Amino acid sequence: MHQIIILTGWISFVFLTVLAIGFVITHLLEREWRAFFRTIFVFGLLLTIFGMVLTFNFVSRELVLGSLIFIQLIAIFLIIRYQNPAAIRITEHQYKIDERAAIFHRFYRLKPGDEEFDKFYREQPDKKEIDESIRKLPPLGSPGGKSYFNLTSTFQTATFGVIEQLTKKLEWEPKSVEGKPVAGSAAEFSARLKGYARFLGADLIGITKLNPAYVYSHIGRSEGEWGAPIQLEHSNAIAIAVKMDYEMIKHAPDSAVTTESSIKYFEAAKIAMILARYINLLGYEARAHVDGNYRVLCVPIAADAGLGELGRLGLLITPEFGPRIRLSVVTTNLPLLHEKPTSFGVQHFCAICKKCATNCPSNSIASMDKKNVNGVEKWQTEQESCYRFWRIQGSDCSVCINVCPYSNPNTLMHNLIRWLVRRNNFARRIVFWGDQFFYGKRRRSKYLLPDWHRRS
Ligand code: SF4
Ligand code: SF4
Repeated sequence: MHQIIILTGWISFVFLTVLAIGFVITHLLEREWRAFFRTIFVFGLLLTIFGMVLTFNFVSRELVLGSLIFIQLIAIFLIIRYQNPAAIRITEHQYKIDERAAIFHRFYRLKPGDEEFDKFYREQPDKKEIDESIRKLPPLGSPGGKSYFNLTSTFQTATFGVIEQLTKKLEWEPKSVEGKPVAGSAAEFSARLKGYARFLGADLIGITKLNPAYVYSHIGRSEGEWGAPIQLEHSNAIAIAVKMDYEMIKHAPDSAVTTESSIKYFEAAKIAMILARYINLLGYEARAHVDGNYRVLCVPIAADAGLGELGRLGLLITPEFGPRIRLSVVTTNLPLLHEKPTSFGVQHFCAICKKCATNCPSNSIASMDKKNVNGVEKWQTEQESCYRFWRIQGSDCSVCINVCPYSNPNTLMHNLIRWLVRRNNFARRIVFWGDQFFYGKRRRSKYLLPDWHRRS
């Protein structure tokens, strides 16, 4: 018995040492100095106590060692036992949303003096005051924004301009090169689309049945007659995600985040457009939905396609990259296999975390409980105050993405934490406590921008 306790004690000691080394190296590489020093302190203390009990022979040594091992085993059991996580709840019928309700439509399509502009504010007078105050602020990418710098902001304007030019027309007719739709099984079409998407640079891809409630009811910002009803009878949707670079997002709310998001919108659009045209040439209807030209809501479609869960910050949180992604969608009537929605603890973790809400510079993220919004229980974000901050800052902010614990890089130790977060409510509380203790309530950039993105 004595030998078994000593041996188990040494195994525990080695296990803790390996964990400590893993976290220390991770924090060192990520230049997270607060986490680095706190890890050394906490694990150093634990290992010193364990080591002293193992090496010094004192009365009741076995009792102390046995108790330490017992506590460790209980803690491991409590942390890794699996409980089904709560999923997002759809409680009522969901209605289609008018694209004219989306904030970008008001600033990228409505022009003062136009008939559409006057009609919109006649019908929605409550939006007039806030929109007028936002219109007085410098447009994104223009002089006057806090993070404006001519040699970098111009690059972002260029990228969004190219996206706008390339995505003006997305309604293409099916035209099979064989004169009739190419025959194939849903399994084969799905496998090929996923393969091509990854070949084109997609980091995540999922397929779902298209919920008609996620098709906009009327045209707002996107191509076509303003206010015309949208007819989109496609049965399936393919959701594509491209990850954003962790180091660039660390600079939020500096305009480096806009450089990153603009180019990832471009990548996501490229993949969706090529896939849509590929499907057209197989003889089936398909339409890409990309930055500035959507007929559908990407986030709930991506959630249905199993890419992730809606988080408190109003974005999709993926298991692999958290909210650090950009999305595009292809809708089609090509037969395809569907994925199932996933839940991996986001609803519970967001309920206790609130880090995005605490750090949001415009208080746009709800720190209270969920509300019922169009049949879904979720946290509601304020799009006007968020966009107003973008215009003041001259970037697309992304502070909420940066501070989200799910946004951590996809490394061995962070993936171990991701795995724990999936297990149960107790594990999520421990991880949340650990995140606050090691990283703190706020996170600041520890990275230098690349030479080509610096101000001087
Ligand atoms: S920061 Fe916290 S509360 Fe906000 S989305 Fe991320 S996990 Fe949820
Ligand atoms: S982008 Fe910035 S302003 Fe908007 S919700 Fe996130 S943190 Fe708040």
